[in-house]
Amino acid sequence: MQIHSNYPLQLLNSFGFAAFAQEFVSVKTNSELFDAISYANSKKFPWQIIGGGSNIVLRSNLPGLTIQMQILGKKLVRETESKVVIDVGAGENWHDFVAWTLENNYLGLENLALIPGTVGAAPIQNIGAYGQEVEAFIDSVEVIDTALLNPPQIKKVSA
Ligand SMILES: Cc1cc2nc3c(=O)[nH]c(=O)nc-3n(C[C@H](O)[C@H](O)[C@H](O)COP(=O)(O)OP(=O)(O)OC[C@H]3O[C@@H](n4cnc5c(N)ncnc54)[C@H](O)[C@@H]3O)c2cc1C
Repeated sequence: MQIHSNYPLQLLNSFGFAAFAQEFVSVKTNSELFDAISYANSKKFPWQIIGGGSNIVLRSNLPGLTIQMQILGKKLVRETESKVVIDVGAGENWHDFVAWTLENNYLGLENLALIPGTVGAAPIQNIGAYGQEVEAFIDSVEVIDTALLNPPQIKKVSA
């Protein structure tokens, strides 16, 4: 995990705003995410997550630590005749994930194809298109309870 100072965000947001993060880190695992948050807390920094940067307007430089979500991975959890549950990393590209489900014949997410951004951001605003919203397809979301950050803990919230 490498922390960068004064990191340019221009290529990391869809509008291309030329803002800088005071400090910036990419996280690829839960443990790196916890380390990043602990680091920010130890420095009394505010922190924020950035995914694909397709729904943020950077009016000015971002203070504190900006954490780029890059946790990847797709795992089949269970499959029945009518339902398949897949565990997917928050840093996966949303459209690529939808394409992957279709390649594997896991139907349902078609209307949500081509929405920019990451899997982790999808439940934050409940992405939707053509009369469908992602909430209808979410079994559960793993979240960090920021009130329980010392030590950090992950909670699974069922839909
Ligand atoms: C051209 C275009 C078309 C779009 N079309 C649609 C559409 O059809 N339907 C639709 O619903 N939206 C649409 N959007 C909006 C956008 O695709 C969604 O808001 C998407 O979910 C943003 O994902 P992101 O990874 O880019 O999030 P970001 O822009 O990086 O972040 C958005 C917010 O979510 C938070 N966040 C991101 N990742 C996480 C995480 N892992 N954990 C906690 N918080 C997180 C960030 O802190 C920020 O507050 C469109 C956007 C663009 C630019």
